Amino acid sequence: MLTCKYCGSERLIKSGFVLNKQRHKCKDCGKQFIPGNKKVYTEEQKTLAFTLRLQGITLIKAAEEIGAPGTGNIMQLLRAYPRRHVMIATLNAKKQAELTRIFAPRGLRVITPDVLGITLPNVEETENTFAGNALLKARSACALSRIPCVADDSGLCVDALSGAPGVYSARYAGEHGNDGGNMELLLAKLRGVPPEERTARFVCAAACVYPDGTELLAEGRCEGTIALELKGSGGFGYDPVFLPQGMGGRSMAELTAGEKDTVSHRGRALYDLQLLMHRRGH
Ligand code: IMP
Repeated sequence: MLTCKYCGSERLIKSGFVLNKQRHKCKDCGKQFIPGNKKVYTEEQKTLAFTLRLQGITLIKAAEEIGAPGTGNIMQLLRAYPRRHVMIATLNAKKQAELTRIFAPRGLRVITPDVLGITLPNVEETENTFAGNALLKARSACALSRIPCVADDSGLCVDALSGAPGVYSARYAGEHGNDGGNMELLLAKLRGVPPEERTARFVCAAACVYPDGTELLAEGRCEGTIALELKGSGGFGYDPVFLPQGMGGRSMAELTAGEKDTVSHRGRALYDLQLLMHRRGH
């Protein structure tokens, strides 16, 4: 039985000839096609085929998984697929967006966990350094996905508070990810501290872990001061109370996404990480 190569429907009508070949039109999706012509795969099917192969799954099994009629199709499809890929291992949607945005112009294809049908576990940050925690997250994601994984760990270090909140930035006020509560507590602790003594920096450690066990690590910093009150609505976390150096007194939350990526700790860490990845041929 002839079926639509786009949606699989059997409700077809003949719709003329192209180069002496009968063309059909699908009554369900409305698309036209000539039977026997190259099968069309969705981006999701292509990504799945590619990642299955990366995971060492055989061509036959990968073809079955994406519904390809044979291994020839899959080989053709993989040839056209970008070789450079990476999974971003974070449960924070805003961080995911930043990391994906920073990687995209460098030609790296970001694969999300849902394409592989996996759910990232909530890795407990038991290390007392950003680098240690970034590695914990990247290792855990790589063990699960068996493809190269990037993770970061970041935080805000305030000089007048002896480096706090540091690795505890996300849970400074108790509950994990309570940005409002964290900023409120920070401003309360700095009440009465004059602007010149409110120096601080965002720090980010970014790690890339490969299935063969290779681990790459880079760190980025962004110097600045803590504002007297919240300003702006962009970004996430402590952005509204952080005034990065050289940005005319604007808070991180008042910068455009592009401006933040240029000066931010994460932008800098990922820039260096990508150099290391590139050197490794990735
Ligand atoms: P983690 O890296 O997911 O453990 O969380 C880091 C925490 O540090 C976040 O929840 C934020 O509170 C803070 N943080 C890290 N990077 C940024 C940033 O770019 N802007 C604002 N806050 C940040």
